[in-house]
Amino acid sequence: MSETKPKIVKWDMHLPYRWSAGIVGTRWLEELKNGRIMGTRCPKCKRVLVPARKFCPRCFVDTTEWVQVGDKGTLRTYTIVNFNFTDQVKNPPYIVGIIDLDGADVSFTHFIGEVDLSNIEKASKELRLGMRVQAVWKPPEKREGNIFDIEYFKPIKEE
Ligand SMILES: [Zn+2]
Repeated sequence: MSETKPKIVKWDMHLPYRWSAGIVGTRWLEELKNGRIMGTRCPKCKRVLVPARKFCPRCFVDTTEWVQVGDKGTLRTYTIVNFNFTDQVKNPPYIVGIIDLDGADVSFTHFIGEVDLSNIEKASKELRLGMRVQAVWKPPEKREGNIFDIEYFKPIKEE
């Protein structure tokens, strides 16, 4: 049996694209400019979906009601990203958290900030599941109607 070296084909793909956020997505993003995190409620299962969605993916019915949820929440889980990969919006290390916002029934994903990441082991001891976090907003004049109008969520210091 002869050994054949595999042929490696290498190229860099660049695929810039845009899409419409749709009626619900557009309102959701515009509300961020006003410092409001909005959800939509499913008329059948009553869950509040955040980010707002046009339909409930569980019940397959259109959502009908807009609901403002809190910009505070509970950290459900997180990961500390400490390696580089393509198209990161931040340089590692950084934390991505899954947050249960007050008043929402699905989790929300965003960065967790104001945690010292100079020592990853120490940072992971500082973070704990169930800790309270709060959105840190850009100043109103700098908001653009996108997810980064919220810079990150910070741990709420217990008194
Ligand atoms: Zn539903």
